[in-house]
Amino acid sequence: MAEATKRHVSIAIVGTGFAGIGAAIRLKQEGFDDFVLLERSSEVGGVWRDNTYPGAACDVESHLYSFSFAPNPRWSHAFSRQPEILAYLRHCVREHQLTRHIRFDHTVREASFDAAEQRWLIETSRGTYTADFFVPAVGGLSEPSIPALRGIESFRGKVFHSARWDHRHELEGRKVAVIGTGASAIQFVPELQPKVAKLTLFQRTPAWVLPRIDAQFGALKKRLYGAVPALQRLARAQIFARRELFVLGFRHPRAMRLLEIAARQHLRQKVKNRELRRKLTPSFRIGCKRILLSNDYLPALAQPNVEVITDAIREVREHAIVTSDGREHELDTIIFGTGFHVTDLPFAKHVRGRAGRTLAELWQGSPRAYLGTTVPDFPNFFFLLGPGTGLGHTSVILMLESQLELMIGALKHMRREGLTSIEPRRDVHERYFAELQEDVKGTVWTSGGCESWYLDVNGRLTSLWPRSTLAFRKRTRFRPAEYVLERHPPAARARSHRAAE
Ligand code: NAP
Repeated sequence: MAEATKRHVSIAIVGTGFAGIGAAIRLKQEGFDDFVLLERSSEVGGVWRDNTYPGAACDVESHLYSFSFAPNPRWSHAFSRQPEILAYLRHCVREHQLTRHIRFDHTVREASFDAAEQRWLIETSRGTYTADFFVPAVGGLSEPSIPALRGIESFRGKVFHSARWDHRHELEGRKVAVIGTGASAIQFVPELQPKVAKLTLFQRTPAWVLPRIDAQFGALKKRLYGAVPALQRLARAQIFARRELFVLGFRHPRAMRLLEIAARQHLRQKVKNRELRRKLTPSFRIGCKRILLSNDYLPALAQPNVEVITDAIREVREHAIVTSDGREHELDTIIFGTGFHVTDLPFAKHVRGRAGRTLAELWQGSPRAYLGTTVPDFPNFFFLLGPGTGLGHTSVILMLESQLELMIGALKHMRREGLTSIEPRRDVHERYFAELQEDVKGTVWTSGGCESWYLDVNGRLTSLWPRSTLAFRKRTRFRPAEYVLERHPPAARARSHRAAE
């Protein structure tokens, strides 16, 4: 059967962002070639394809926010911009010949484990696939969250979310509302401010902002990194060590006061107006929400065509937003910088394990997976960047690579031993979750006095790993004793393979 139409594979990966591409590279490197990447879009890149808003960039240095197994000596800045990161991912796909594995325009609608056949059944918008292993690599920031504002349907102007930017909508001279002041908004607000007639920023909670200490890399440096890769590894190690130390502050929030002093000073320098400064000063401990890095966000807010509104939004009318004080703010464009469905990831409603229950039903609002990766009753399932793998202090690619090593370790073990099924032991999984819940007590995320998207609907911190990435790396060494590993009679499996031929 031709490669492109083959319907049974050993491994089905969903998504071609960092996680999917990283998984594909590592699988190939280890001699696993029978896999597909199911991609809902017609291009690779995940969040770095979707978030094309003006000013989009990464707030983690590129030396660290890239694969250790695919270094890029050509980064132009310490903190890369979105087009360069997307180009890097495309380069990885070409370099490792992944295109033939990718099925573009394949939206995964449902996936369920078929216990009789011992395989995953994956319904996509272009037909059904079956796979021995199912690897969601859909990311936690893939589904935009748009609040249901009263009256929004009556608005006559343009409305879009930052992750679905409408570049055809000319913003020059417009009256624009931005809702939200998170990591995305602080990047695009300074880009819009000089263009628009009026920018009204609706802020629910002010953010702590620190300067971004960026640097441009000249031709010489790039050549040097290309010629002597050890130099780039050294630069990466320095960034890694500095950032890794920060986790101590998140675990001992009193230590974060020093950072607060720096952030207050940054605010004082950039915003001279006392009243505006008051609006922009957070009342929670720094780190409780994601710390934002920007040199131009605060100065943009101090410009005469910007107004920061802190009254709650009451409703939207044809040409305006009305706030709780009864004031009508006239507008022609509304941009939501309101983040993503993280702990209520819609994908979880469409993945069913052996018992027929979906992940969402199992989780009841508190996502959990052993080492963020495997779930009891979901055999042969590796969730990349799954629950509890987010970070507040450094590059999430480090977590991803640990998960990839865990998955590869498991697959190699199974290949060696002739095993066909793996899932975590229920007791190990439960103990892990209880241990994490204990571990997050007293950290800045749970005691810093804020409400953040790190917390789930039950008020639990389930999205973050609360320790160092080194600790996660150590934990994720594959240990067979922690799993239920089985060898199933080959009958059912042979049947499924025959059907695919
Ligand atoms: P976010 O951090 O979740 O921020 C959403 C913003 O919208 C917050 O200010 C929130 O206010 C506000 N908001 C949400 N619902 C609202 C409502 N109903 N009414 C008024 N305001 C509302 O989203 P994001 O800025 O898109 O960033 C999401 C994540 O993406 C980041 O935390 C980060 O992990 C990642 N990101 C990374 C980079 C990078 O440089 N690496 C860049 C962009 C994004 P509250 O604070 O009051 O909830």
